[in-house]
Amino acid sequence: MHELVAGRHLSRNPELRTPVMIELSPYPDRRALLERVRQIKHVALDMDGTIYKGATLFPCTAPFLSRLNSLGVGFSFLTNNPSKSVAEYLKHLENMGISATAEQMHTSAQATVACLKMRHPEAKRLFVLGTPSMTEEFEKAGFIAVSESADELVDAVIAGFDLTLTYSRLCRAAWWISCGKPYLATNPDWVCPTDQPTVLVDCGSICAALEKATGRKPDVTLGKPQTEMLDGILHRHGLQPREIAVVGDRIYTDMLMAHNAGAFAALVLSGEATLEDARNAIPQPDVTIQSIRQLGELIEEAKNSA
Ligand SMILES: [Mg+2]
Repeated sequence: MHELVAGRHLSRNPELRTPVMIELSPYPDRRALLERVRQIKHVALDMDGTIYKGATLFPCTAPFLSRLNSLGVGFSFLTNNPSKSVAEYLKHLENMGISATAEQMHTSAQATVACLKMRHPEAKRLFVLGTPSMTEEFEKAGFIAVSESADELVDAVIAGFDLTLTYSRLCRAAWWISCGKPYLATNPDWVCPTDQPTVLVDCGSICAALEKATGRKPDVTLGKPQTEMLDGILHRHGLQPREIAVVGDRIYTDMLMAHNAGAFAALVLSGEATLEDARNAIPQPDVTIQSIRQLGELIEEAKNSA
């Protein structure tokens, strides 16, 4: 294990932390780490806390993505938050000066669609607890989102991060779940991070309420740390899991997903996890760094020292 922590000033803003150089890694030395990094052909990036905070892009993000382009390393964006559509995420990125294609964007709603089609190919009519944007993603994929009438025919229930949740729809979801319908959840998060004076009750907490009411947990919960969101990247680019680096700021979702998939796990300290969290993480990420800028430097150094 090698550990390098230099500098004194630990600011909340990763760009103000430039005097600080952090590199934690379970590899015996930097040479062994670089050897592992050399295998990376694609970087799967978490969004909030990794490339931006809320609506503010980190200054290191655009140079990092240009560096990946010039090194011939692909990249994609992964998010557990299903409340926005792919088009809305692309617009959000574009507003911050990052251009990306729909093929580079992977949401937990898309993973849920894929899982539903595989596990329940006969399912067509869904009761969806989700935002209009999320419901539309399911409709675009060929499903019918039914009303909350008890007379509807329902093949499956989908619970998501529903910012438009109403009591009557929560009760109707509980009814269909208690009737034994297939029940999928988009993501396990209890809350969604926010800088506003509120708590954003996320999909995991909505499912906890449904579990108390019905005695059932979701049959499957998509999103990180499950690995389904990586499947599209692996298939599209013909990659092995170890050729992907999963980069994120949460140990129990981003890093666990990397571990579950057999991908390279890069923890950044620009969001939720602290250096203390990183030291205590089991298993250890392949590398813990201050921000994505250091990952770009590592990849470049690994390629140049080949
Ligand atoms: Mg994050």
